[in-house]
Amino acid sequence: MLIDYHMHLQPDGVGERAQQARRWDTHGGYLSRGWIGRYVERARSRGVAEIAFTEHDYRFAALADLHPSPFWREEATADIDAYCAAIADARDAGMPVLLGIEADWVPGREDDLRAFLDARPFDVVLGSVHWIGEVSVDNPSEPPIGPHAAEDVWNAYLDALIDAAGSGLFDVLAHPDLPKVFGDRIPDAVRPRLDDLVDAVARAGIAVECSSAGFRKPVGELYPEPSLLAGFREAGVPVTLASDAHRPEDVAEGFSTAVAALRGAGYTHLTRFRGRVPEPTPIRSWA
Ligand SMILES: [Zn+2]
Ligand SMILES: [Zn+2]
Repeated sequence: MLIDYHMHLQPDGVGERAQQARRWDTHGGYLSRGWIGRYVERARSRGVAEIAFTEHDYRFAALADLHPSPFWREEATADIDAYCAAIADARDAGMPVLLGIEADWVPGREDDLRAFLDARPFDVVLGSVHWIGEVSVDNPSEPPIGPHAAEDVWNAYLDALIDAAGSGLFDVLAHPDLPKVFGDRIPDAVRPRLDDLVDAVARAGIAVECSSAGFRKPVGELYPEPSLLAGFREAGVPVTLASDAHRPEDVAEGFSTAVAALRGAGYTHLTRFRGRVPEPTPIRSWA
C-alpha cells in the first residue's frame, strides 16, 4: 500500500491562515469532517490508502513556552485536545486517518515534550529540526545560509538531528536534509557527517521519511537526496512516505517520483504506525 504520513490542516503563519480561512470555513472549519475529508479524497485519488495528520507542535497553546522565538509564540494558539478529537471523529466516521504530530527538537526541553506526547494518543510522532538555537533553518524570509557559512549551518543542523534521533522522543525523522531547501546542498567537507546521521538513526531504531515537499521548494528534489536515501536503506532504516502538504491539493504530490526513488534505493516496504508501533507493509504503487 501507499501512505502519506506528513500533512497539516493549515498553512504556517497568521497571515497565510487568514488568507485561506474562507476555504475551510465553507466546510465548517479546519477541524471539520468536511475539510479533513478533502485530504482523504485527494489521497484516494492518488492511490494512497492511509494518511497521518501531523500538525506542528508549535501550533498548540499548551507548548507556547517550549521555544523562545517570537514566531513560535505567535503560532501557538490552537487547542491540542480539539485537534486530537477532530482526527478521532474523522476516524470514527470511517476515514483512514491517523493522529500524528510534527514535533520540533528543542534541546533542554525533552522532558516537557515527552510529557506532552505521552499524555495523548498519537499514532506517529515526527521529529524535526527547524531551529538551530533561535535561527530558523527553512524560513524563506530569513535563509540561514548567507548570514552564516553553509558549513556551519549544515554542521549545527546535523548535530541537532543526530541528538534528536537518539532522544527516544520520535518515531520518524522528517525531511532529514532540510538545509538544502533554498538550494544550498551539503558542502563536500560536511558530507562525511551524513554517515554519522545514518549510524545514529539505525542505532535508534527509528524511521526516516521520504518527502516530496522538496519538489515545491527552490531545491526541487526529494528529502533525503538519493545517496542519503541509499545510505539509510543499506543501514536497514525503515521509511515512510510524506508530502508535508499544508492544503489538500498537495497530498501525495510527487509520489510516483518518490516511489521510484525508494525502489531505486532498494526499499521494498514502507512503515505504518498505530499507537506509535511500527509495522512494515509492502510498497504497492498504482495498479
Ligand atoms: Zn517540517
Ligand atoms: Zn510539516
